[in-house]
Amino acid sequence: MNRPSMTNPEERTHHGPPCRAASCHRGLLEHELAKQQVVCSRCLHLINVWLHVELPLQIVVLEGSRQRETTGASSGGRTVYRTAPLPGRDDVLNLLGPAAWSDRVRDAHGQAHADQHGAVPIAGVLIPWVRLVCEERRWNPPALAPQVLAQWLGRPSLLDWTSRRPWAGDMRDELHELMRTVRSVTRLRPQRRPVPQPCPRCDSLTLVETDHQLYIDCTTCESMYTPAELALAARITAAELEAGVA
Ligand SMILES: [Zn+2]
Ligand SMILES: [Zn+2]
Repeated sequence: MNRPSMTNPEERTHHGPPCRAASCHRGLLEHELAKQQVVCSRCLHLINVWLHVELPLQIVVLEGSRQRETTGASSGGRTVYRTAPLPGRDDVLNLLGPAAWSDRVRDAHGQAHADQHGAVPIAGVLIPWVRLVCEERRWNPPALAPQVLAQWLGRPSLLDWTSRRPWAGDMRDELHELMRTVRSVTRLRPQRRPVPQPCPRCDSLTLVETDHQLYIDCTTCESMYTPAELALAARITAAELEAGVA
């Protein structure tokens, strides 16, 4: 089968200096370098999805789990007894725990230093980044509720600026770690579904779409596509097949 010729497939190749996030293996693309980004657009999209969509949902689940722990689960007025405490109870309380504006110090290289051991509360991960942004922009800090901090830090208009800061990769890595911790406690992970269409670049049937995410990923060649691009690729393939048959 002929490979469909996308309008600009070279747009999504892996050349160029690497994305500054250690948890990402992509190279920066020409248009990303032109915008002086130090992390790739996919990382920015992930940060936005994590902070704006997923984390607020996860916090609702964590709050519900804390509520059940404190009030005791009941169904129809009958208390449901557990033989063992719900696993991860301490993790839930840790994650929802309060964090002070000055809990952690960040050195000149943007490295955060935890002054406590064990799981850092969600607010404890977000606050140093919010504080760093507020210091660099000379802004007043937002309210300290974790949901507010997450949405404040993850809004696209701010991420555009964040993408050019030397510490953007560290922030992405730390948020990646936070999401892993939160997901392991709530056992709620974004669902991934196979997309029944060959990858326009490598022809593998390994395209995957993930909850909340705009891009569809190829797990073989790591290309990413919007639904519109895939629809276009499918139309081109169909046209080529038809032309081949005629
Ligand atoms: Zn990246
Ligand atoms: Zn591919």
